[in-house]
Amino acid sequence: MNTQQQWTALKQRIDIEARAFIHGEYLDAQSGQTFAVINPATDEHLVDVARCDGKDAAIAVEMARSAFNRGDWQNQSPAKRKAVLLAFADLIDQERETLALLETLDTGKPISHSYSTDIPGAAAAIRWYAEAVDKTYGEVAPTEVNVHAYITHQPIGVVAAIVPWNFPLWLACWKLGPALAAGNSVILKPSEKSPLTAIHLGKLAKQAGIPDGVFQVLPGFGHEVGDALARHEDVDCITFTGSTRVARQLMVCSGESNMKRVWAEAGGKNANIVFADYKNLDKAAAETASGCFYNQGEVCVAATRLLVHESIKDAFVAKVIAASHAFTPKDPLDPASSMGALIDQEHKAKVLDYVAKGQAAGAKVLCGGDVAGQGAFVAPVVLDDVSNDMAVAREEIFGPVLCVIPFSTEEEAIAIANDSPYGLGAALWTSDLDRAHRVARQLQAGSVWINNYNEGDMTVPFGGFKQSGNGRDKSLHALEKFTEVKTTWLRLESY
Ligand code: NAD
Repeated sequence: MNTQQQWTALKQRIDIEARAFIHGEYLDAQSGQTFAVINPATDEHLVDVARCDGKDAAIAVEMARSAFNRGDWQNQSPAKRKAVLLAFADLIDQERETLALLETLDTGKPISHSYSTDIPGAAAAIRWYAEAVDKTYGEVAPTEVNVHAYITHQPIGVVAAIVPWNFPLWLACWKLGPALAAGNSVILKPSEKSPLTAIHLGKLAKQAGIPDGVFQVLPGFGHEVGDALARHEDVDCITFTGSTRVARQLMVCSGESNMKRVWAEAGGKNANIVFADYKNLDKAAAETASGCFYNQGEVCVAATRLLVHESIKDAFVAKVIAASHAFTPKDPLDPASSMGALIDQEHKAKVLDYVAKGQAAGAKVLCGGDVAGQGAFVAPVVLDDVSNDMAVAREEIFGPVLCVIPFSTEEEAIAIANDSPYGLGAALWTSDLDRAHRVARQLQAGSVWINNYNEGDMTVPFGGFKQSGNGRDKSLHALEKFTEVKTTWLRLESY
C-alpha cells in the first residue's frame, strides 16, 4: 500500500466526478443545483456534487423502466449477466486505489480500511452474486399427475437502493450485487455525506457492459431524491440501509403510493455480554474495543452496550480501556491510522452531546472525548455506570461511545440485552457450551456472535429483528428478495 506521502500526493491530483449517472452518461442535475462535499478530517471543501431532485428521479425511473421492459438485461442469460458482473467486480478491484482514496476523503475513515476492507469487500459482493446467479434453480411442486406446477423467480423491475454514509460503496454493493444479478434495473441513491464512490461506479458499470438505464446513480441532498423514488408509482422496490426513522418514512411512502416492496436495514443498539466464566478475557476485551470503535463507532452492529458480570466489571473495563488505545484518532491518510474522523462536524457535536447527556444522567466518563483542532475527531469514550434506561443506552449514538452496564445473573443479562427497540446484533462470551446455546437462542437479534464480535462474510444473511429492519442483505436470502415468486400451472390434457 502507498505511504502517507503518496496518498497525500494522489489526493492533490485526483479528478473527482461529481455529476449524476443517468442512462449511461454523466449529467448535471436538471435544476443545475449542487451541494458541497467536505473532507471531515481536514474540514476542506472537496467538490460540489449534482443536487438531483424529483425531476432527475423521474427521468432515471423512466430510463430504468424502458431498459427493463425492453429486456436489455433481464432477458440476457444468467451466464451472460454473470460474465458482465464479474467484469464489473474486476474493474472495482482495478480501481481500488482511486476508490479507496475517494472513500477516505469523503468519510474520514482510515485509508487502510478503505483499501483493505471496504473496496475489496464491495468487489467481492458483486462477484459473489455474479457467481450465484447461474447456480440457482426454480422448483417443481408435488402436485396431482395431471397438472404440472413450477415455481420461478423473476426480477421485480425497477429497484431503488438508498444507502448511508458509513460504508458507502461496500453496503451499496450488498444491494447492487443481488439486485443486478436477478435482472433488475437499479437506481443507486448515495448519502449526501458520501456520494463520490457511488458516482465513480457509473463509469465502471458502463465499461463492464451493463446496459444504459440498468444501473444509474442519483446523488441528492437529504430526503430530496429518496422521497421522490419512494413515492414514485413506477419504482417496484426500495432497498434501504440507514436510520430507523427514515426506514419508517419509506414504509409510509410505499403505503401511500404503489405498495412497492420496502426492504430496510436500519439501526442497532447491540448488546455484548461478557460472563465471568469466559477463559480469555484479554481476547474478549480486545474484540469489545474493536467491536465498538472500529470505523469510529459508525457501525450499525457496533458493540455499544457492554453487559459485563458485576464480579469482573472493573478488571474487564480496565482491559477494554487499554485495548481502546489501538484506536487513537490519526490522519486517515496515514496507513498506520486505525481511527479516522467522524463523518462531519454536525455528527461530532451530536456524539459529544450524547456523552454530556450520559454524564448528566449519572454515567461516568472513564476515557476519551473531544479531540480539539481541525477535523471531526473524537477519541474512544468509555461510559461507566450506565443503566439501560438512559438515553445513551437506548438511542443509537453512532459514534465511538461504549456504555458499560453491569449484571448479576444470566436471566438479567438476557432481559437487558432484549430491552431495546432494536434487534440487529448481539454477542456473548462464555466457556460454558450449554450457556452459549441457551443464551444465543434467547437473544432477539439477527446476528449473534459467540466468543467473537463481528465474524461475517457474504455467505451469511445480515439484518435485524424488531426496529432494526426486515429482510436480509448478503447470502442467497438477499437474491430472493429482489425477485417475485411466480407459480405457473400447466394442465396435461392427455390424463
Ligand atoms: P439516514 O437514514 O439519515 O440516511 C440514509 C439514506 O437515506 C441517505 O442516502 C439519505 O440521504 C436518505 N434519506 C434521508 N432522509 C430520507 C427520506 N425522508 N426519504 C428517503 N431517503 C432519505 O442514515 P445515515 O445517517 O446515512 O446512516 C446511519 C444509519 O444507518 C444508522 O442508523 C445505522 O445504524 C444505519 N445502518 C444500518 C445498517 C444495517 O445493515 N442495518 C448498516 C449501516 C448503517
